[in-house]
Order: sequence, then structure tokens, then C-alpha cells
Amino acid sequence: MPDILESLAQIVGTADVLTGDDRFNRRSEWETHQPCRARAIVRPTTTQHVSEIMRTCHAFGQTVVPYGGLTNLVQGCATTPADIALSFQKMNQIEEVDSTDHTMTAQAGVTMQQAQERAEMEDLFFPVDIGARGSCMVGGNVSTNAGGTKVIRHGMMRDSVLGLEVVLADGTILDSMNRFLKNNSGFDLKQLFIGTEGVLGLITRIVFRLDVLPKSHNVAFLACSDYAQVVSVFKRAKQALGGGLCGFEVMWDNFVHQVVEPIGSLRAPVAPEYPFYIIVESMGSQPHTDDAAFEAAMFELMESDLVADGMLAKSAGERADIWSIRHEVEWVVSEAFVFDVSLPIAAANEYVNIITRRVQADIVDARIAAFGHLGDNNIHISVLTSDRSAQNSECAQKHIYESLLPYKGAISAEHGIGLEKRQWLSISRTAAEIELMKTLKRTLDPGNILNPGKVIDAA
Ligand SMILES: Cc1cc2nc3c(=O)[nH]c(=O)nc-3n(C[C@H](O)[C@H](O)[C@H](O)COP(=O)(O)OP(=O)(O)OC[C@H]3O[C@@H](n4cnc5c(N)ncnc54)[C@H](O)[C@@H]3O)c2cc1C
Repeated sequence: MPDILESLAQIVGTADVLTGDDRFNRRSEWETHQPCRARAIVRPTTTQHVSEIMRTCHAFGQTVVPYGGLTNLVQGCATTPADIALSFQKMNQIEEVDSTDHTMTAQAGVTMQQAQERAEMEDLFFPVDIGARGSCMVGGNVSTNAGGTKVIRHGMMRDSVLGLEVVLADGTILDSMNRFLKNNSGFDLKQLFIGTEGVLGLITRIVFRLDVLPKSHNVAFLACSDYAQVVSVFKRAKQALGGGLCGFEVMWDNFVHQVVEPIGSLRAPVAPEYPFYIIVESMGSQPHTDDAAFEAAMFELMESDLVADGMLAKSAGERADIWSIRHEVEWVVSEAFVFDVSLPIAAANEYVNIITRRVQADIVDARIAAFGHLGDNNIHISVLTSDRSAQNSECAQKHIYESLLPYKGAISAEHGIGLEKRQWLSISRTAAEIELMKTLKRTLDPGNILNPGKVIDAA
């Protein structure tokens, strides 16, 4: 019987079975820059290749870790020397954009940015956008059910997927490439593979639902003196802007003040002396009326006692300047323990105060930064400390996740579970839910060869 690597080389060619330094020189994790330790990286170009690879791995009992753009933040692509990494890098074709039905059909290895730019060429809009757009791949985005900055208006990745083609653990090709908005013909099987991080099947092709390209784009930067005001501004903005509201981002003060002058290098749109800052973003298809409605809504807020100070962007450059503060905050706090939780909007500040107290009681020099997609119930928390030991990491996780319990919060809003959050899953999911996840895993992948150990322990 041939060695498994020889069998895989017969499927994709020797140049696309990377071993030795070819494999070691590639990283496998965004955060740690860990080199890839897989037995080999295999790079198929077609669904048929993926099917044959899985049939072979199934026969050999060989474990397989799917690699998209490797930008996940939860050790979802963690790989041992016993694993084969299956990279979608070469499945990078956009097959079709249908400008009547507003759909895009793409292979899993197309980057999000490629999909966005191709949609724009047809005056259409790819509805999900995240900071990692240049590196992450649409197959990875679907596998993680990615969120980002436009969820209030367009939903998560799941809401933009009409159909999927998936290869199962035994190599079976499941063609579920629905193209219609309405299709209630039996079970909607694609949902099994969206957000399940490659543990139930490999996504090879996707039919996306696109939107029309927005013609108006408005952004405002607001400052509030207390959190009750933030919540009221959210309610008012939703009422005034309706379906046009696409982003409501909130940043707590201590890190905004680090990135704007005089401490940081960015120009603050308003005096940096408030505890909360908000970015409100709206898009629409009627520039003249949309711009006027946005301006009226923001001026009304600024004249009310809900907003202490504010500024409306008057150009694409000013919109970019406002967003650069949010993106800079993200980088300032990236050298930290990073969390991504969901909870009721009204409770977010109380929660931040509670975890700050609990974490600082146990980690002497810890500072907490909170910011994120508050309009989607989602905040990112960074715990900054000079001692990023495993013990402090565990301590921060315990406080941040256990403090969610009274709010029935989610330990992962958008980043997924991977290996990193697996031990905390029972905070957000019941025992019956976790058992059903394991039953699905054992049914679809009885040999436990697909991304083993991620999300749940089904061994
Ligand atoms: C700077 C930065 C900003 C980010 N911002 C956001 C944000 O705003 N919102 C958000 O949701 N996330 C965000 N992320 C996290 C990350 O970008 C997303 O989770 C993204 O969707 C991952 O895509 P990827 O192609 O990199 O997938 P990978 O990291 O390669 O893989 C993710 C998971 O999916 C599996 N997988 C990959 N491809 C396939 C496939 N074809 N079939 C089956 N399984 C597969 C992998 O095994 C892994 O478990 C950010 C990350 C960074 C670095």
C-alpha cells in the first residue's frame, strides 16, 4: 500500500503536497505566528480533488485541518505533526456574478476583498466586511459565520449564504448549491456547515446573496458623558435611520485617549475628555435624501442632552479618519488577552465594570479595554498586562466568561470556539445542546478526522 503522502501527491501533484521547510516556513496562526507543524500541506484546486483527498484520508484514518486565510483568533487551525493541513489557497475562482438575481458563486479560497471588489464591478455589494478582508477567505468566513461592522443592517455571514457545496469526511460531495431566496424543499442542510468551523465538512463552493451597491455613505463620531446616554443614542439612531443604520460602534475612553492627540498620533474629531465614544454609520440608495436625513438625525442628537459633543464626516477622507481611530484602538489592544462576547446592550457597561474589578483583583497591573460592535450586542474586551502567563490567561478567561452567566451572555459573539474557548462552551450552551453537537459530529465524521478537537471534544 502506498504511503498516504504518495497517494495525495497522485491526486494534486507533488508540487502541491508541501513538506519540510516548504511547510514549516508558513505560519498556522495569526496571533502566535506559530510555524505550520502539519505532516504536510495539501493544496487542491477542484472539488473533485478535495473529495479524493478526503476519501484517501478516511481510508487511512488521517486527520485533516482545513486552512482558509488563517486569520481566526481562537486556534481554529491549530495543527499537530500528525495532521494533514488542507489549504484552500488554490481554490480561488469567482465563477459567476448574476446581476439579475444578485448572487455570486465562488470557490472557498477567494479572499473576502476579492469578492467585495468583484461585486462592486457589477454595482453590487458583498454584505460582510471585517478588518482581515485582504487575507481571510470566503470559505473561512462561512465556516466561522463571520460578523464585522455591518451586521445591524446585513446580518452575519449566514444571512448572505444561499447555497453551499461541501465535501464530507468520507469524500462524499454534497451539492446544496441553492440560488434562490425561497427554497423550503426539506431540510436546509447548509446550516450544518455554517459556523461549525470545519468539524462537520469542508466547504468547497458557495452561492452568496449580494445587495445593491450603496450610493450614500454617512459617518458621525459622537461622545457621551454616561452609558445611559449611549443606550438612548442607539435607540434614537435606530428609529431615525431605520434600515439605513449599518454600524453602531462604541469605544470606552481609556484606549481612545491612547490613540488620539496629545498621547497618540491621530487627530480627535472631538475633545478627548469623555468616557464613551460612538461611531454611527449609515448607507442607502438615495444620496440626496439619505444625507439630509442622517444630518438631521445627528444634529437632533447633538442638540439633545444625550450627546456631549460630535462631528459629522463631510468627505470620504473624514469618514476614513473616524474609522482609523476604531482600527487603531484594535491594534493598540492586540498585544493582550482578547475576548469577544455578546450580552444585552443595556448591561454592557455594568459587565465591563464587574470584570474590571474581578480581573484587577487577581492580576495586579491589568487594564481593561472595551470596544466593539455594541449595536450587535457584541463587545471586544482586551486585558492588558505585563505578565501574559498561562496562569493569568486562565484567570482572565474565568472572570470574563463566568461573569456572563447572570446575563445569559455568549462566550463567542463572532470569532467562534476553536480550541481556545472549548472548555467554556457550557457557559453559553446547555448540556443537551452540546450533546447534540457531539451526536452530529459522530454521525457525519465517525472517525473524528475533520478538524479534531475544535469546538467540541467528540473523541
Ligand atoms: C485584524 C482582524 C480583524 C478581524 N475582525 C473580525 C470581525 O470583525 N468579525 C469576525 O467575525 N471575525 C473577525 N476576525 C476573525 C477572522 O478574520 C474571521 O474568523 C474569518 O472569518 C476567518 O477566515 P479565514 O479564511 O482566515 O479562516 P481560518 O482562520 O483559516 O479558519 C477558520 C476556521 O474555519 C475552518 N475552515 C477554513 N476554511 C474552511 C473551509 N473551506 N471549509 C471548512 N472549514 C474551513 C478552519 O479550520 C478554522 O476552524 C478578525 C481577524 C483579524 C486578524
